Amino acid sequence: MAISTRVLQCDPSSISFPPSASTPTISSPDTLRALQAASDHLVHNLQPVAFPTETVYGLGALALNASAAARIFSTKGRPADNPLIVHVSSFSMLQSLLPKAYVLPPAYTALMKHFWPGALTLLFPSDGDKIPSLITAGQPTVAIRMPSHPVARALIAVTNAPLAAPSANSSGKPSPTRAEHVLRDLDGKVGIILDGGACGVGVESTVVDGLNSGGEVRVLRPGGVTVEDIERVLGIEMPAGSIPKVLVHRRDYRDEALEAAPTTPGMKYRHYSPAVPVHLLYTTSQPPDGELPLDAHAFLASLGSSGTKVGVLSLEDSALGTCTLPENGIEWTRYSLGPAAEPAVAAHVLFDGLLTLERQGVDMILIEEIREEREGLAVMNRVKKAAGDCRWIKFNQAGLS
Ligand code: AMP
Ligand code: MG
Repeated sequence: MAISTRVLQCDPSSISFPPSASTPTISSPDTLRALQAASDHLVHNLQPVAFPTETVYGLGALALNASAAARIFSTKGRPADNPLIVHVSSFSMLQSLLPKAYVLPPAYTALMKHFWPGALTLLFPSDGDKIPSLITAGQPTVAIRMPSHPVARALIAVTNAPLAAPSANSSGKPSPTRAEHVLRDLDGKVGIILDGGACGVGVESTVVDGLNSGGEVRVLRPGGVTVEDIERVLGIEMPAGSIPKVLVHRRDYRDEALEAAPTTPGMKYRHYSPAVPVHLLYTTSQPPDGELPLDAHAFLASLGSSGTKVGVLSLEDSALGTCTLPENGIEWTRYSLGPAAEPAVAAHVLFDGLLTLERQGVDMILIEEIREEREGLAVMNRVKKAAGDCRWIKFNQAGLS
């Protein structure tokens, strides 16, 4: 049944969190009213609300109320075995969720000191008396993070309850980074969208498991907080001799049980795919043994003929980003992923690029690889899941002309 969707403006700059207070100061009456309306909808109607976070827009509902949280799954069409991240606004709210007398691992204390609030999700033991099993998909752990976006944190604080919140998109689609992305996807399915502008980070949080017996810090999903920054902080904060190793799932280790389980981000389900085919183009990496890269010009020219619309997401300073595209009637639309040296820009614009090109009606989207370093690791993780296939292409030295 369609419901009417209201988009309410929130001004993030009107919200501040005084250092020791758990409630925010909100100077804009309109923003306060919007937050109260959203909070009412969460608490009294037990319905989800879409709101901005620093990573992507989230679709939040009361985490400790199973029927409220169930609406997240039905609104998104999310499979029930894909667990949700619980969002808190304060350390005392975190404490209230954890098992009694639980002592944080030292690595978590170090990471929280630097990255909370922020784009880092940590796994904790789940207390089954407090956390509905719907949230954890029956896992013994619960994923928790404290968002830094003022609107997200204020919504949780005003509601005075933790919110379970995945990205505010239909399952399988690219994550939304602007309120209009949410509206286009969930109009008629969600009652309130809080509009706080574009998300700063642009990709989801980094999911970290530091609970395993080996003592290492395992990155289950790369995200807004980089692996390099996690290593740097552990190096600074942990005593010499007990600095944990940081291992990235599928890069540094494999875990077959984990890969078979839906808890591994994006392993089991389609992810981040626009309605049109997406092809990943490797422009600098070597193809697998025995294969030769395709000639870039011939490949691009082969993509269509008069009237074919092709979207190209490429670095602004790469051979693909600077070449003259074939003039054989294909209508090209470029979207820049920023400079190669600044992968944070690619993270910021990736989902907007996919959604914008899709809306413009292209027939296919090409995405250029970026280096899997810093934010580039999270970007490529998403790109590989969005892409139906990949090709290795090579530009001759003069580029295309
Ligand atoms: P999303 O809400 O789509 O950003 O996805 C959240 C992701 O966090 C899920 O797909 C899981 O991969 C991961 N996650 C959430 N809870 C757990 C958990 N208890 N154990 C392992 N991974 C989790
Ligand atoms: Mg998601």
